[in-house]
Amino acid sequence: MAERESIAVFGAGYVGLVTAVGFAELGSEVFLVEIEPRKREALEGGRVPIYEPGLQELYDEVRGRIHLLSAASQLPDSVRLAFVAVGTPPAPSGDADLSAVYAVVDDLVTHTPRGAERAVVMKSTVPCGTGKGILRRFAELGSDLAYVSCPEFLREGNAVEDFFAPDRVVVGEVGDWAGEAVVDLYRPLLEQGVPLVRTDVASAEMIKLAANAFLATKISFINEIANVCEATGADVLEVARGMGLDHRIGTAFLRAGIGYGGSCFTKDVSALKLLASNSGYHFQLLTAVIEVNELQKRRVVQKLERHLGSLAGTRIALLGLAFKPHTDDMRGAASVVLAGRLLGEGAEVTAYDPVAMERARQLLPGLEYRSDPYQALAGADAVVLVTEWPELVALDWRAAAHQMAGRLVIDGRNVLDPKTIAEAGLDYEGIGRPAVASRQPSGAGKEGS
Ligand code: NAD
Repeated sequence: MAERESIAVFGAGYVGLVTAVGFAELGSEVFLVEIEPRKREALEGGRVPIYEPGLQELYDEVRGRIHLLSAASQLPDSVRLAFVAVGTPPAPSGDADLSAVYAVVDDLVTHTPRGAERAVVMKSTVPCGTGKGILRRFAELGSDLAYVSCPEFLREGNAVEDFFAPDRVVVGEVGDWAGEAVVDLYRPLLEQGVPLVRTDVASAEMIKLAANAFLATKISFINEIANVCEATGADVLEVARGMGLDHRIGTAFLRAGIGYGGSCFTKDVSALKLLASNSGYHFQLLTAVIEVNELQKRRVVQKLERHLGSLAGTRIALLGLAFKPHTDDMRGAASVVLAGRLLGEGAEVTAYDPVAMERARQLLPGLEYRSDPYQALAGADAVVLVTEWPELVALDWRAAAHQMAGRLVIDGRNVLDPKTIAEAGLDYEGIGRPAVASRQPSGAGKEGS
């Protein structure tokens, strides 16, 4: 293998860890800088501290090339490319909180020798204009650091695959050595046909925000169609199938459900909306996208009330808590809003998730956690499938019916087969689909509709 450039990655989270492990697999020595001692200790002990399919196995393979550090001062002078993958959560104003990004930038300014060839490579999602601001800061402080925007598009739950086969690599640069060096680092992927978008810094920053805002718009659009389907008797699955075959529309992101979640869509859509309004433009469409999503999460409560009446004293089971399958990430998860509303209405809420329960416990201490899905269903008046984990989609619904006191199954992701549910003696209700009543009474318990 030809000698590969050594790099630094700041932040050992979902993006930073995958980036570090991915580039180590491609042959780089990687200096991974993480401020949280517990994460460093886990990694030093050989354990990946997040759940991401395939990541632990790949880490086991490349561990010898990953060096854990706690600050920029420990970086060898020879490291030229410093990837920044720290969090940019929403500030109370809705703008992106860039304090962690600036902490890294300042750390690098302080600990990069004058005249050294070194660049900040921004993987964190930042508002358009951030790169310009950082370059201004370098100039004010007399720093020779260069800057490249290299936004990340990986999807949690599929992140390792996405690292090696992304839809595109975007490099936003000012035309100096650093852009070329980042392109070289990605060369093995580009040689396999991954498209490269080489552009200016502001456009690269905007590509990331616009892509996420468009995907969120697609989801809110199909959710609104689903709500109209409910009122008219159409089935949104059929509608989406027919729409998606039009190549101008495409099938991706046309799945109606209980709303998008996760750390990225929620914060990036609101960051773009605020970025626009700070620049004097009212981005009306995004206001609607956000509102539709918030209402969608709450519609499940209305469905439950329609069947059960007041929820006070009822027992509701939530299956799946993570914001999507194959991750333990609870940030922005629909389950958080839904559980909060159910507890607020006086319901008892039991819950099960294959990997996210440890994180969920910190956010949702009022839930009763069960170690398998059937236990979560014991005595439940209704169940809501919140996250479409394969093991939950494949549940034995006859066994589930025996556990439940009531009959109602709300399929928050439209992934269950209504006929199977009905044949198990349960009532099916999806999102934007005709409800299907049970074929046989389950006997005990509260009345479904
Ligand atoms: P994360 O919270 O999982 O990880 C961030 C890590 O950075 C944490 O481990 C934190 O301790 C560490 N950190 C904070 N300050 C630090 C510092 N000064 N030095 C070193 N480490 C520091 O976040 P994430 O989900 O990996 O997201 C990182 C960025 O990537 C965000 O801007 C996000 O919007 C963007 N992004 C995320 C995804 C995703 O699916 N998670 C996808 C694309 C882009």
